Amino acid sequence: VKKQQINTSTSTCCYCGVGCGVLVHKDKSGNVLIEGNKEHPVNKGMLCSKGLNLHYTVNDKSDRLLYPQMRYNKNMPMQRVSWDEALDRTAAVFKTFINKYGPDSVAFYASGQCLTEEYYVINKLMKGFIGSNNIDTNSRLCMSSAVAAYKMALGEDTVPVCYDDIELADCFYVTGANPAWCHPILWRRVEAHKAANPKTKIIVVDPRVTDTCGIADLHLQINPGTDITLNHAIGRALIENGDIDLDFVTRHAEGFEQYSAMVFKRSMADAARHCGVSEADIRLAARYIAEAKGFISMWTMGLNQSSTGVNKNLSLINLNLITGHIGKPGSGPLSLTGQPNAMGGREVGGLANLLPAHRNLDNPLHREEVQKFWGGSVINPKPGLTATEMFEALENGSLKAIWILCTNPLTSLPNVRLAEAALKKAKFVVVQEVSNKPESLAFADVILPAAAWAEKEGTMTNSERRISYLNKIIEPPGEALPDAEIICRFARKMGYKGFDFEDPAAIYAEHARLTTKTNIDISSLTYEILKEKGTVQWPYKKKSAEEGTIRLFTDKRFYTLSKRAIIHPVPDANTSEQPDGDFPFILTTGRIRDQWHTMSKTGKVNKLNQHLPQSFMEIHPDDASTLGINDGDITVITSRRGKVQVKAKISTQIKQGVVFVPMHWGKILGNDLNRVNNLTSDQVDPISKEPDFKFCAVNVVKF
Ligand code: SF4
Repeated sequence: VKKQQINTSTSTCCYCGVGCGVLVHKDKSGNVLIEGNKEHPVNKGMLCSKGLNLHYTVNDKSDRLLYPQMRYNKNMPMQRVSWDEALDRTAAVFKTFINKYGPDSVAFYASGQCLTEEYYVINKLMKGFIGSNNIDTNSRLCMSSAVAAYKMALGEDTVPVCYDDIELADCFYVTGANPAWCHPILWRRVEAHKAANPKTKIIVVDPRVTDTCGIADLHLQINPGTDITLNHAIGRALIENGDIDLDFVTRHAEGFEQYSAMVFKRSMADAARHCGVSEADIRLAARYIAEAKGFISMWTMGLNQSSTGVNKNLSLINLNLITGHIGKPGSGPLSLTGQPNAMGGREVGGLANLLPAHRNLDNPLHREEVQKFWGGSVINPKPGLTATEMFEALENGSLKAIWILCTNPLTSLPNVRLAEAALKKAKFVVVQEVSNKPESLAFADVILPAAAWAEKEGTMTNSERRISYLNKIIEPPGEALPDAEIICRFARKMGYKGFDFEDPAAIYAEHARLTTKTNIDISSLTYEILKEKGTVQWPYKKKSAEEGTIRLFTDKRFYTLSKRAIIHPVPDANTSEQPDGDFPFILTTGRIRDQWHTMSKTGKVNKLNQHLPQSFMEIHPDDASTLGINDGDITVITSRRGKVQVKAKISTQIKQGVVFVPMHWGKILGNDLNRVNNLTSDQVDPISKEPDFKFCAVNVVKF
């Protein structure tokens, strides 16, 4: 391959939020080969199985959408049309609905896979010109609980630490996450650090024994949904032993007294019983944290995807705050972003309740500032519909049109059969997609073919605030266009000014200007600097020694009004759907090592499909024996919302009373019985509106 190689470009892996750097070698025929970038500060040349096989998904064009398609009514077949025909009709339909029913009758549902420039123009179009905040993304299913908790505790949605803190920490508290499988390259760094420094303590909290437990000094195999009780009990033990940072909690934080009163409400013995772990182990976790010079808490969907997701996040961040482990080397809360650019989306305000550059929708000054900058319509103060609310609104008829881009909601949404019924009732559906696989295409009135990774240029931000520049390396197939180009063409068809950007650099430059004097200021970080450096961590100060910002809050001044961090005394109640006589098991969902989300990319790669080729249900041997289920038997799992039918995988690695089914599989040849979201609950956290994918009641029987 090296002989045929004609050029090499840099880019960033488009799967998880770790943000590994890659070298993309393109040969004469336009095929690419991926290699880890040894110069990249995140992965230093390493790639996980998904990243290593990325070129297969890029080179295989067999499932690509190649030209716009349209139909005038739902009974007609799709027909090939020109870009102008597709966008003229879409603009006409959107205008009709907006004039007749108001701007809230239309919505955009986008993705944490979008590039920042794409997010920016969709957000600008919807909030600044159409006049509705109905723009939400699948980040709502992923990081919104962490976003809300960061804002409540630190004053802004901001990750204080950097990956280089890993090598400076001597205690890690990993909860609601399986980074060994889901953020592998970051975890390789933790493993290497532990191997070089065996005294480093790793505490893993998970109802399942995962590969992450492989290097754990302590695995707290808690009952699902008891995270807050556990975090409070550890907090109580730290207070009892005098292991808190009194100077920090008195001078730089508020709320400690109320927190202390809250955690002392439950005895240690009661907390241990409730969580299903020993009191000695809870005290040991507290001791490991107390003895650490550098303490990092690490989490992802296990805390976020919950009806109490924000409270779970806050109870964890509290452990960093009461011990003063924030704003110093090797210390702080590190939320692991699920998607590659969930953070970039947050920077431009790409959720229904946000404004660009971490401005607040409920702040009239912020709304006015953004409106003046964009020069469009007055920004609506009412938060828009969130991901699940959009589908509820389609179902009840209040939302008429939805534009879905870069996401596969009919596999990924909770209670997905309801979402499917809603899409069937929608008056007008636009699907902007790379692949011909997503199930939402069957409901589309207009299909718009989009360019994929490596076929367009732009930026993304990873879990440590690191902005990466991604090169355009190959041409998109057929008539596919970059997402930002499609949105700008549509905005111009709608008659809006301010969407005639020359290229993605011009979009980025406008976004960067809008960050001026905010806490994420990148106003002096140009495309040229990004191209030269490859990556930079925000905020960016041109003349500072490090130029980017590796660590936040080193001055202990937070972004709250009082400049102090807030310790929130959250209740530990679990509000998820509880098991009962009819549905006695708890269902939890999650990822497997070699698949990404709904498999539209990784599912194309034979090597990746070999790891775990089919969906399955993990169940404890004692539960399996009671139900007469043997390993490999087909089982029927039912909840109040639907059913699935998958093979049993009997394992001592899961707690009794709990079953696990992977999130990835959708409909296969019209059969939806592998799709775990037939079962999941669409209950959401009241603050973050993030759904509860990790806890619902199910029944299990042998087929
Ligand atoms: Fe890609 Fe994440 Fe794997 Fe890195 S760890 S190669 S970003 S999937």
